[in-house]
Amino acid sequence: MIKLIHLTKEYKGLRAVDDVNLEIKPGVIFGFLGPNGAGKTTTIRLMAGVLRPTGGRIIINGMDISEEPEAVKRCAGFVPDRPFLYEKLTASEFLRFVAGLYGLDHHPALEDRMARLFELFDLFHWKDELIESYSHGMKQRLVMCSALLHEPKVLIVDEPMVGLDPRGARLVKDMFRDQARGGTTIFMSTHSLEVAQDVCQEIAIIQAGRIIATGSAEELRQKAGVEGDLESVFLKLTEGKRIAHETPLSSH
Ligand code: ATP
Repeated sequence: MIKLIHLTKEYKGLRAVDDVNLEIKPGVIFGFLGPNGAGKTTTIRLMAGVLRPTGGRIIINGMDISEEPEAVKRCAGFVPDRPFLYEKLTASEFLRFVAGLYGLDHHPALEDRMARLFELFDLFHWKDELIESYSHGMKQRLVMCSALLHEPKVLIVDEPMVGLDPRGARLVKDMFRDQARGGTTIFMSTHSLEVAQDVCQEIAIIQAGRIIATGSAEELRQKAGVEGDLESVFLKLTEGKRIAHETPLSSH
């Protein structure tokens, strides 16, 4: 469902993503882990079509994003790490606006879909309030609603759990599992090893732009030769390697 082939992104001499190859099957919840500055957000922005690669290809649902960007965007939902919301709209108005972007504004099932998403993300009672009055967690849950509105086959999420309280995090994890059961493929970056262990069937660890390990949590444990939790595995696999790119942004 998702293929990254020799994917590379350079920022003025800095290889933020360096020859990344990954293949993710339908219905899989895929965790993308790595230390700060490893290249997670850059990879995700490339997959969302926000950035153009320096080299390589991204295939989503059988389509090359550089050849069919609109068709790819119609079958993918994207939740960025710093989402943008129109705060002077209510949540209902915002979802109708997003529906318009996908050409769904006159879809007969739109109101039902919106109601279902508001219920799912615990926002139903506040759907007609201005977004500016929402808490951080409510805004994040609304962004999830907007990413799911067009029923994407692939959901690409950058750091979904940041700023969510335990109830919000549980909601999102349950939603990921439900979506995956329905066949949606989920690609999520996370710093939370606990989340990765809990919900992801497959994991890749990226460091300094390169994939250094892939597999299930158990396979990674075996590769690292470490017993115990994913944190020990992560630390073992990333130790002694380049921690991050040294090039300071100010020199660009
Ligand atoms: P974090 O966990 O801290 O969010 P990350 O794994 O998401 O990090 P990226 O944000 O993809 O990492 O950054 C990868 C590298 O690319 C870093 O060295 C970063 O400084 C650099 N970088 C990111 N965006 C730009 C940009 N627009 N211009 C130049 N360099 C950039």
